[in-house]
Formats: sequence, C-alpha cells, structure tokens
Amino acid sequence: MLDQLVQLAALLFLVASGAYVAMLVVGRARAAGIMQRSAEVETALLRANVDLVMDKRRFEAKRSELVWNGFRKFEIVRKQQEGGGICSFYLQPHDKKPLPPFLPGQYLTFQLHIPGQRKPAIRCYSLSDSPNHPDYYRVSIKKVLPPRDKPDVPPGLSSSFFHDQLDEGDILDVKAPGGHFFLDLTKPSPVVLIGGGVGLTPVLSMLNAICESGSKRETWFLYGCRHGDDLVMRAHFDRIRREHDNVRIFIFYSDAREGIDEAGRDYDVGSRISVDWMKANLPSSNYEYYLCGPPPFMESLVSGLEGWGVPEKDINFEAFGPATVKRTPAAQASAESAGASKFQVTFAKSGKTVAWSPEIGSLLDFAEENGVAIEFGCRAGNCGTCLTAIKVGDVTYVNPPGSPPEAGSCLACVSVPKSNLTLDA
Ligand SMILES: Cc1cc2nc3c(=O)[nH]c(=O)nc-3n(C[C@H](O)[C@H](O)[C@H](O)COP(=O)(O)OP(=O)(O)OC[C@H]3O[C@@H](n4cnc5c(N)ncnc54)[C@H](O)[C@@H]3O)c2cc1C
Repeated sequence: MLDQLVQLAALLFLVASGAYVAMLVVGRARAAGIMQRSAEVETALLRANVDLVMDKRRFEAKRSELVWNGFRKFEIVRKQQEGGGICSFYLQPHDKKPLPPFLPGQYLTFQLHIPGQRKPAIRCYSLSDSPNHPDYYRVSIKKVLPPRDKPDVPPGLSSSFFHDQLDEGDILDVKAPGGHFFLDLTKPSPVVLIGGGVGLTPVLSMLNAICESGSKRETWFLYGCRHGDDLVMRAHFDRIRREHDNVRIFIFYSDAREGIDEAGRDYDVGSRISVDWMKANLPSSNYEYYLCGPPPFMESLVSGLEGWGVPEKDINFEAFGPATVKRTPAAQASAESAGASKFQVTFAKSGKTVAWSPEIGSLLDFAEENGVAIEFGCRAGNCGTCLTAIKVGDVTYVNPPGSPPEAGSCLACVSVPKSNLTLDA
C-alpha cells in the first residue's frame, strides 16, 4: 500500500514537473515569438519611415528635374461639364515632355490672353485630381456670376473665358504647380477635409490622392453646397464610399429644396458645415483639418476650430481670391509683436506715407486700403504679378513665396514691412 502511494506520488511529481517544463518551454517560445514579432514591427516601422524620407527625396528630385520656369504651353485635351456651373479641363503639355509631380492641394497659375482685354489676365486654379496621373493636370472651374446686388456688371472675366470660349485643342500659358496648402501624403495622421462650393477642388485632390495611394489613413470628407443643383461628382463620391472603408463622406445642403432634394438619398446633413456638427460626430477634435470655401464659411470654421482647442498648426486653409481669413487675435498679436505697427510705408509714385496697420493684412491689402493700385493675380505669392520695387527698407514674408523675388523687390500680396519702407507704387 505504502509502495503504491510512493509510486503514485512519484508519478504525480513526474507529471507536474513535465507540465512545468512544458509550460516553461511554451512560455519562452511565446515570449521569443512576441519579441520577434515586435522586432519585426519595429523593423517595418523603421523601414516605413525610411521609405517616407526616400519618397519625399524622390518627389523633390523628380520635381526639380521636371519643373519649368515662367509659362509653358498646355493643350486642353478634354473639357468636361461637371454640373453645378463647374467645368473640368484636362491639360497636357504641348511639348509632350513629362510633367513634374505636385502635392494635392496645389494650384496652377494661368496667363490668359482674352480677346478684347488690354493685357493678359492672371488667375490661379487648384489642381482637382490626384497627383497619381502623371500624364495630365486637371482644373475644375466655376463660372463666376455677377454679385447678387450688382446684376448688371459683367460676369467673371477668366472663368467665363474658360467656360464660353475655350475648347479642346486650345493652348494655354501655365506656370508650374505651386502653393503651400497641401496634404503631406507621407504622414499617417487622420484628416478632416472640408470643401464649400467650388472650394471643393483642392480637398478633392487630397481625397483622390489618399484613395488612389491605397492609404488606410482615417479620412472625413465634408462637402457643402446649397442644394442638388450645385452638387458635382456625386457618382465619384458614391464609388469612394463603396470602395474605401477608411473614408467617411458627408454631403451638406444648406438650402435643400422641398420636394426635390431628399435627405438620406441626395444629401446627408441639411445645414451648413459647422464645428457643432463636428463636435457631435467626430470621435474627438484630434485631426488635421484642411478647409477651402467662401470667406464667411472659412471665417466661422477656422475660428470655431480654434475655439474647440484645435492647435493652429492643425488648421490648414486656403481662400480663393482676394478674401483672406483672419486668424484669431493670438495670431494677429504675434504679427504685431514683430514690431511692424511702428513702421511707416511710403508709396513713392502715389506720394502717400501711411503708418502700417497690421490688421489690414499684406502690403497689397494695405496699398488697396489707401487707394494705391498694385496689380495682382493669385494673391498667394505665386504668380508674380504684384512684384513691386523696394526703394528703401525691407519686408518679411507672411507666407513664403513660390520663388522669392530678387533683392530690391517684393511680392506685395504676401509681405509686410520689416522696417520703414518706400515702395515704387
Ligand atoms: C489659390 C487659388 C486657387 C483657386 N482655385 C480655383 C478653382 O479650383 N476653381 C475655381 O473656380 N476658382 C478658383 N480660384 C478662383 C479663381 O482664381 C478666380 O478668382 C475666379 O475664377 C474669378 O475670376 P474671374 O476672372 O472669372 O472673375 P473676375 O473678373 O475677377 O470677377 C470677380 C467678380 O467681380 C464681378 N465684377 C466684374 N466687374 C465688376 C464691377 N465693375 N463691379 C463689381 N463687381 C464686378 C464679377 O461679376 C465677379 O462676380 C482660385 C483662386 C486662388 C487664389
């Protein structure tokens, strides 16, 4: 009996030790597996980071190899009505040489020789498709109508020229892509892309770039227009919704027409795009925001996002045309603390000397405010039309210009005084 008990105890001991050894072996193997996997993850992350740096280098190398100076001839190879008064133009270089890559959000500057006009008109139009199509550039242009309170003035000069007079086969003078409002495709950070009206174009390029690159980046796309007559590219958005589960698209109608526009079928939200909607629907405010749209839309969204605590560095925006979005007092204060308010600006040709007011904006805005005419095109530092000679003093650039002008002159649309200044204007 005792022998049997001893044998049983020995057996149990053997089984327990075996199990313990087996657990140790399995545990070690598991730990080794986990360590190997985490080493693999680390290597993959490192490789991805190296790839990103290489991608940026490759992009810059390709861009500087292919970029051109001044204006290059482009042919309109396709003109496509998109609805909503917007027409897309597909452009290919007339010399058939390769195109430099661009960043989604950038724009082209056109020099338009419009019949009956004394001098060429300079206008900027955002690239509206993804940079994944190296064989063409696309811009999408809305025909600008007379303001509601001035129905008798002529419609927009250049947009009407594009819509009414230009056709496939016509040749245009185009500057290389430029601009500082763009999405960095090498970053994984989640984004909210917001387009109001024709301000859709640069954020559409960003959306298409994310989708076509196969990126799984979390993307919210908010597109606002008045009603169904203004909406463009619905089929395109429906397809993206079906094919990309990392992208959430919401269409907002600010003025849905009763009996015509149906919520859920035609649009998702029956109001303007607002920060209140974002607060209620985004999981947090922790996104990079890219906005483009009409001035009141931009003013309210930028200040609303700042009020929600979104850091200024995460709010990127572009206004089309003369309108500029004023940052909140914090940003204005920092411009003032640079000391600009104590400077005098003299417009030599016009015989005016005025104390600088930082709240007005750029030197171009300041000149206009004081009745001094300086010619302009893009108001974004790219087209060079507002190039003005500096007779005395120096300027600071609020946004770095596409290509900085030579010493002794400035691009008035993106500069402010750095000292007392005398301009040849
Ligand atoms: C960076 C950037 C990107 C842009 N991207 C796009 C884009 O992708 N798509 C797009 O469609 N636009 C875009 N724009 C806007 C575009 O550049 C033009 O500003 C727009 O097409 C209007 O130009 P226009 O020559 O047609 O109008 P303008 O001739 O400049 O006229 C503007 C307005 O003034 C009115 N007007 C004319 N004469 C008078 C008068 N005597 N008194 C009062 N009012 C008058 C016109 O009726 C019109 O409403 C962009 C602008 C910038 C700066």
